[in-house]
Amino acid sequence: MAMKTAAFQKCINPGCGAQFDCTESIFKCPRCGDLLDIQYNWDEIAVPKKLAEFGRRWANRDKPPDFSGVWRFRELLDFCPDEHKITIGEGQTILQQNRPIAQHLGMKPDRLFLQYEGLNPSGSFKDNGMTAAFSHAKMVGAKSCACASTGNTSASVALYAQSCGLKCTVFIGSGRIAFGKLSQAMDYGAQTIQIQGDFDDCMKQVQDVCVELGLYLLNSLNPFRLEGQKTIMFRIIEALGWQTPDWIVVPGGNLGNSSAFGKAFAELKQLGLIDRIPRMAIINATGADTLTDLVNNRKLAWNGGQVDQKIIDDYYADLTARHFSPHTCASAIEISRPVNLKKCLRAIDVCKGIVRAVTDEEICDAKALIGKFGLGCEPASAATVAGLKHLLAEGIIAKEERVACVLTGHPLKDPNVTVNYHKDRQGQFSNPPLSAPNDLQEIIKLIR
Ligand SMILES: *Cc1c(COP(=O)(O)O)cnc(C)c1O
Ligand SMILES: [Zn+2]
Repeated sequence: MAMKTAAFQKCINPGCGAQFDCTESIFKCPRCGDLLDIQYNWDEIAVPKKLAEFGRRWANRDKPPDFSGVWRFRELLDFCPDEHKITIGEGQTILQQNRPIAQHLGMKPDRLFLQYEGLNPSGSFKDNGMTAAFSHAKMVGAKSCACASTGNTSASVALYAQSCGLKCTVFIGSGRIAFGKLSQAMDYGAQTIQIQGDFDDCMKQVQDVCVELGLYLLNSLNPFRLEGQKTIMFRIIEALGWQTPDWIVVPGGNLGNSSAFGKAFAELKQLGLIDRIPRMAIINATGADTLTDLVNNRKLAWNGGQVDQKIIDDYYADLTARHFSPHTCASAIEISRPVNLKKCLRAIDVCKGIVRAVTDEEICDAKALIGKFGLGCEPASAATVAGLKHLLAEGIIAKEERVACVLTGHPLKDPNVTVNYHKDRQGQFSNPPLSAPNDLQEIIKLIR
């Protein structure tokens, strides 16, 4: 079934470069095993000459592709004919200028922006990718799908599968999933399988299960997902009056977002739609800092696509030998073998990116700050503000630069971390509940 679009899949390994039609669901290069990218013949696509033309589509609330904050930008991810596109209203998110946090960090007050992706239908940025991947799944006629997940992927997959009628199985590691996310997968009707292992174990199993049973795979290994995630950057630029910020700060887990953002900026620049590419800071948790270690200490780099695979293989062999399992309260980034590592290295190259790791304590304090003065977020998202604090202190980000932090998930995803932080007075912003006898005068005494 050949479907004519201007898009094709291409292996990211320049030594291979194999190309495949978008109607194939292969998820990895069958020739060399490397990651696949979606590429476009731009001269066959009627891309608007100016980004502002995309903004007008907000007005068309009655027209499904325009109603979506992803498909409003459809010419920039043109791999799927309109009749297969599905949307449940994802991507209607906001960029919040946050003066109190900027001041707290010692920045010029109008220079900090928080891109709140918790407003998505399933409460995390994952929906931006799922609308794209599920549209592709519909286009190729998939009937059942699967994913491995630290939580939000399963919530998002379960919701999209249910709304477009696909059977769905999600794999989660034992014990480590936040309850908000697990509850969504069950509520949306997904078959949930808990594997005795961590996320990296689940990721390996799900790939084999998908091949064995012919299931459609929805991890960020799926290159169509990353096409949807590019739109987070388009919306940040839109909210800044179609200007790029100086910095994008993003948490790093499986490195899908950072990869997608780098690709988005490279394409916008190539199309002449922006003239300057922002820099990118990717923030790990110290308990899951593979990227930080590989890039900062072992000097792993994109190197024009000639990535030194031996550095990666040795690093992973060492993790295995030490029986290393990552640990952080930011469960969404508790990953030690990031699937999109190589694409992320490319994004670092495109955006002059840098990588830092922050402790769980720093993450929790930053999360409380975002709750106290912003719209709130889950722990992984708060790594951005914690990382920004480091980079300001190091003088890498200047206090007058415009910075957009991507808040990837909703605060109610992981209430345990929040409640523990506050009730046990774990940090400088703890705000524990007070207890009072059932007595008016005693209650009044407590009120500040
Ligand atoms: C999945 C997820 C991440 C990690 O994203 P990557 O793009 O895989 O690095 C970060 N934060 C939240 C809330 C997530 O759900
Ligand atoms: Zn290949």
